[in-house]
Amino acid sequence: MRIVLLGPPGAGKGTQAALIAAQKHAAHVASGDLFRKHLGEGTELGKLAKTFMDRGELVPDDVTISMVLDRIGEADAADGYVLDGFPRTMDQAKALDEALAVKGQAIDLTPLVEVDTEELMRRLVGRWICRSCQTPYHEISAPPKVTGVCDVCGGELYQRDDDKPEVVRARFETYERQTAPLIEYYEGQGKLVRVNGQRDVEEVTASLLQAVSERSAA
Ligand code: AMP
Repeated sequence: MRIVLLGPPGAGKGTQAALIAAQKHAAHVASGDLFRKHLGEGTELGKLAKTFMDRGELVPDDVTISMVLDRIGEADAADGYVLDGFPRTMDQAKALDEALAVKGQAIDLTPLVEVDTEELMRRLVGRWICRSCQTPYHEISAPPKVTGVCDVCGGELYQRDDDKPEVVRARFETYERQTAPLIEYYEGQGKLVRVNGQRDVEEVTASLLQAVSERSAA
């Protein structure tokens, strides 16, 4: 199954994509994580990406598209993947469809995780992430057992620069302007399933897995 997880920043796409990918033995491909990896390694792409990420803007399509298409061409993605944070523009969505069509493939399902803006803001501003395994925590709703330390791998927790309130606001605007039109695009392809993201993590995962099963059976 090839899945594109849609939703605004802070909807829980990263958490859910990781859970679904593990359950379905698919690769979890998060464009933001790929950029942050480049950033950590000090590559030219990482330096370029940072200038956009720090402003809450999108990294240009050409470099983003080739980075993600290369990643989904790797062996662990051969049997399927969950895309998280990509595509984010119409041109990215079309480039993805075209690249898959050449291989006789297509995206199967695009669940949209819906959460209202006030809740998104609250989630992002209190968010802490593991530097090693990317597991997200929240100061209030999902704190780690030991402050600053990842429960899963013992890694160091940090707050993303782009989770500052002014950058978060810019990321929402970018989402509305450039990414929200994808909802209609995938709805037109009959691939969109709306999932209420304002529930416990387990409940959201269950709804997503049900949508995947229904699509597999169809
Ligand atoms: P995320 O971790 O998905 O919230 O992404 C963090 C930042 O990385 C975004 O605010 C963008 O600056 C950049 N980014 C991630 N995915 C994309 C994409 N598909 N297209 C352009 N920029 C992206």
